[in-house]
Amino acid sequence: MRTSQLRRKSKCIATMLSEFGVDYIELTNPAASPQSRDDCEAICKLGLKQAKILTHTRCTLEDAKLACDCGVDGVDVVIGTSQFLREHSLGGKDMVAITKQAIEVIEYIKSRGCEVRFSSEDSFRSDLVDLLSIYRAVNTLRTATTNRGCLKRNNVGVGRVGVADTVGCASPRQVYDLVRTLRGCVSTDIEVHFHDDTGCAVANSFTALEAGATRIQTWSDFTKRKMARMMPTSRDYILSKYKLDQLKAIEDFVAEAVEINVPFNNPITGFCAFTHKAGIHAKAILNSPSTYEILKPEDFGLSSVHFTSRLTGWNAIKSRVDQLGLDANSWPEDQIRQVTAKIKQMADLKVMTLDETDALIRSFHLDLQKSHGQNGQNGESVEKAT
Ligand SMILES: [Zn+2]
Repeated sequence: MRTSQLRRKSKCIATMLSEFGVDYIELTNPAASPQSRDDCEAICKLGLKQAKILTHTRCTLEDAKLACDCGVDGVDVVIGTSQFLREHSLGGKDMVAITKQAIEVIEYIKSRGCEVRFSSEDSFRSDLVDLLSIYRAVNTLRTATTNRGCLKRNNVGVGRVGVADTVGCASPRQVYDLVRTLRGCVSTDIEVHFHDDTGCAVANSFTALEAGATRIQTWSDFTKRKMARMMPTSRDYILSKYKLDQLKAIEDFVAEAVEINVPFNNPITGFCAFTHKAGIHAKAILNSPSTYEILKPEDFGLSSVHFTSRLTGWNAIKSRVDQLGLDANSWPEDQIRQVTAKIKQMADLKVMTLDETDALIRSFHLDLQKSHGQNGQNGESVEKAT
């Protein structure tokens, strides 16, 4: 039961991502477990319109064969190139053996008609000469075939090479140097994959793009943070490529599927992403959002919330009244100022949640409606508004 539910959710997520506009979706290695293989086959059969299906595998013929048998569009192979991994994960293999193994696997995958990405692992603790040598070798692979006596050379090189900081040790400057150097050595797409152990993954991804990388591997939350980073410089491109108004729904669906909460301070979709505490900020934003916001919430189908505290001003409260659908223009200005004063007074005593602020605004609104009702206006709207 649980298995079928999980598969249904995985298929939904893949469909949502494809409709959102991602080019590739990478699935778990089908060799990991029978379930992984079945899931991979099921998602391949969806026939997604936009996204191609890839799977991440070890650089072995067994894994590559299983992946191709599942019906994927491409196989992302990876092999360790740092001294640490060669010694402790690959049984002491040298770079000659690793390169030979990589070429054998890549040729096999290409012969099955699938795309190939070849990535080193622990790239930033690998020897630079080793790295560039193996990337060059997989970039320019050629096989010779004869056609009616004529020798023909076919390029079976990879479509993408990958740089992976699988320990999260790289700094943006190191990333720029390596990707820039690699850009001069290979003609393929360059993909990057960063772990966030030291908090540099988003900065490293952005720097890699500046240095010539063409693809970023990412996951749900990370996608969002990278998009947030790219919006100030590449807004038109991002708006044309992705359906940004679907971002929050996808994130909520994934969070529910994997049973985690979306952090309150997430960029873009977090509860506090577009909230402002200080009255001077809120006032300026209400006049012109670009004064304090580099991202436009409406690009993502969202709206600003002006957070309340003792620093809150009456402009922010007026805006919140409107956000709650309580028609701020029907409020006398002194009422808005009164409720603001009350909120500031309470915020001096305790941290005010948004729910508490809203409740206070609603109670003022109710009083206002009642006084209008006593003055002969329709009391029915009191019930509707509250
Ligand atoms: Zn990783």
